[in-house]
Amino acid sequence: MTTTATAATADTVDVAASARRRSVELEQQIQQNPGRFRVMTGDRPTGPLHLGHYFGTLHNRVRLQDLGMDVFVIIADYQVLTDRDVADRLIEHMEGMLLDYLAIGIDPARSTVFNHSAVPALNQLMLPFLSLVSVAELNRNPTVKDEIAHSRQSAVSGLMFTYPVHQAADILFCKGNLVPVGQDQLPHLEVTRTVARRFNERYGAVFPEPDALLSAAPLLLGTDGTKMSKSRGNSIALGATADETARLIKGAKTDAERYITYDPENRPGVSSLVLLAALCMDRDPHAVAEEIGGGGATALKRTVTEAVNSRMAPIRARRAEYARDMGYVRSVLRAGNERANEIAAATLDEVRGVMGGGI
Ligand code: ATP
Ligand code: MG
Repeated sequence: MTTTATAATADTVDVAASARRRSVELEQQIQQNPGRFRVMTGDRPTGPLHLGHYFGTLHNRVRLQDLGMDVFVIIADYQVLTDRDVADRLIEHMEGMLLDYLAIGIDPARSTVFNHSAVPALNQLMLPFLSLVSVAELNRNPTVKDEIAHSRQSAVSGLMFTYPVHQAADILFCKGNLVPVGQDQLPHLEVTRTVARRFNERYGAVFPEPDALLSAAPLLLGTDGTKMSKSRGNSIALGATADETARLIKGAKTDAERYITYDPENRPGVSSLVLLAALCMDRDPHAVAEEIGGGGATALKRTVTEAVNSRMAPIRARRAEYARDMGYVRSVLRAGNERANEIAAATLDEVRGVMGGGI
């Protein structure tokens, strides 16, 4: 048991390290030739978007959009049902996410935002994709294992088990080749790459093999020292008030050592707070830790709170502004769904064609 767990951890570390190296290469290609990329990524409408999303993927989406890339963002509503029986407050969460996207700078004139259940061709695309992966491969996926461990359901549903293939359809329907995500998504990206490669080998070259693009914060921790997640009650929402933010940071887990250092391996709680302040201020985390030094956890939390609140202030103000016109916000999704449906139908035609027409 211990050996298997250690091996799995080592594998995960290897995968993350190689994805980080690949992301450095990709950044060079992005600067040289942004036109060769199409960006595709998304989020589950399970709750408000948080700082882990912002620094892990949202910020990159806007940067890539502003470099002129075609960006697709999926609100993965069917995927809510992977780890719970019903999708609670779905509309509220979806509208909240639309507000967050607009507030951070996603521009509907340049980016397409759509939701899963509004594009039925995505689900049809999943069927041939399911035939390309084995049950053993799906069983090995470490992120699915982690999500099963945190699931609200006692039994693992078929949807949970197969959702990396669902994601392959989400990414490949628009031939996305660049996927800005957090580290937890790397095993899923591997499934998408496998699906694309096997499809192309079996039926002819139709799909790109997409790359994950990691940010400087591929795994931001929450206030309890584990991955910041919408569903785990440990996150700081983009749309939180300044007071809520202060309260959440005050309750964050630190450790008994007074002197503040940046040492993610040995001091995950403290280091994650240091990193959060550094990201918000666009500074180096070591320098931030050094400056706080003997001030201890109290000074650290004060610095983090000020940094988060001042970085988020303009985003929160824009969010409130957009919230005054929900008719417009909803129209963004309708237009995005229309475009996604057109593209998905064209890809499905192409897939039917190469598979022999009858399927
Ligand atoms: P849930 O708990 O409901 O699964 P989540 O917080 O994990 O929610 P997702 O919608 O599953 O959010 O993930 C959306 C995107 O945000 C993915 O690309 C994921 O990798 C990224 N992401 C989520 N949490 C973090 C985090 N803590 N640090 C960096 N990236 C993250
Ligand atoms: Mg998740």
